[in-house]
Amino acid sequence: MPLRALSYNGAMSQLLHRILCVLCALCLTSSLGAETIALKAAHLFDGKAKTLVPNGVVLIDGNTITAAGSNLAVPNDAKIIDLGDATLSPGFMDAHTHLTGDFYSEPYDELRLKDLEDSVATLAFKSVPHARATLAAGFTSVRDVGSEFFLDVALRNAIAAGIVEGPRMLVATKGIGATGGHFDRSNGFRDGLFGRQKDYTDGIADGPEEVRKAVRYEVKNGADVIKAAVSGGVLSLTDEVDVPQFSPEEMKALVEESHRLRKKVAVHCHGDEAAREAINAGVDSIEHGSFLKPATLELMKAKGTYLTPTLIAAEEILGKIDKYPPAVQAKARAAIAARSEMFRNAVKIGVKISFGTDAGVYPHGENAKEFALMTGLGMKPIDALICATSVDADLLGVSAKLGTLEKGKLADIVAMPGDPTQDITATQRVNFVMKDGKVVRQDAGK
Ligand SMILES: [Zn+2]
Repeated sequence: MPLRALSYNGAMSQLLHRILCVLCALCLTSSLGAETIALKAAHLFDGKAKTLVPNGVVLIDGNTITAAGSNLAVPNDAKIIDLGDATLSPGFMDAHTHLTGDFYSEPYDELRLKDLEDSVATLAFKSVPHARATLAAGFTSVRDVGSEFFLDVALRNAIAAGIVEGPRMLVATKGIGATGGHFDRSNGFRDGLFGRQKDYTDGIADGPEEVRKAVRYEVKNGADVIKAAVSGGVLSLTDEVDVPQFSPEEMKALVEESHRLRKKVAVHCHGDEAAREAINAGVDSIEHGSFLKPATLELMKAKGTYLTPTLIAAEEILGKIDKYPPAVQAKARAAIAARSEMFRNAVKIGVKISFGTDAGVYPHGENAKEFALMTGLGMKPIDALICATSVDADLLGVSAKLGTLEKGKLADIVAMPGDPTQDITATQRVNFVMKDGKVVRQDAGK
């Protein structure tokens, strides 16, 4: 149940808040009540309106927003945090992260080797700074779409319990894919090296019944969302980047079983044919989408399927392309050559575009670079901001509680200097972060 992880802290602090209120009533004094916080800044973006409003004010009681807007009256006893020439915004969301992954710090071959050496505990410890950097950059919620050893489940729970500092997480556990496909981690190694063929417990499934079993196994182990690879990928060694890797029957089973268990389905997909089959099967989002043709984008629009473009990932790979094996280089070049036109077409056609970056392919915490890449390919700055807030909240299924600055929403709020609709790179200089009503970063204002 997606909201469980997201609202755990909220439920606890609401309970605490209620107990405090009862104490207040008993003492006939308000001095023990939760303090109202008033955030002020020159501009406010509410997560959905097409313009910023001036003189923004957000009032927060406990972990909940009680009012947000322009020139609101501030209660006398409120604690005021005035951020000056800045813009208040709902906390950013990233619909495509790998907080437990590091695919960038060393050359490709060394990372593949390290992947076999690190203990599960080492991998877990390495994830802690990734989570902290993501939150500090203003990303207060993420949909984490692929991890190993259920590290993502443990990280999500540790963050919700206040043990580790990080964003609210929805997690996918292991990516589901076909034998020899993008998610088959024995790809490119000597056959039999790992003692047995990968199976549904590794996310590897062939045939509709195995796909169903993989979905059930992941939900049993804590998945909030299901991730699958339906076409080849760039960083995997032996598959072609755009070929379909699941049959239509397998895709149908994937979507049917996930939706039956009330989980959404995000599919890694670069190829056009695989995307069409996945969209027709009813997936909720297409991740990457490099080679999608206009007719396929029209189909997405008609079906309401989201596109998660992950533009930074391609930039990162392109920036050090000679560090990859020739097979990966060729795939990366082809995908990157295709994706700019695909993105422009998606904007023009009006496909629902979510904000997602593939964090882990590039260093965690640099997520906001995606904004400038989106606007560089023709999206308006305000629309890019809407993608990272209310659109992502819809895709994640959390819009009842998150994604906008409105009365009753959880207080996940960020601020950045100046006006991001004039200079979108302001999103890379977030200087205030509040999550669940608590200030986790403040290096501006008073
Ligand atoms: Zn990814």
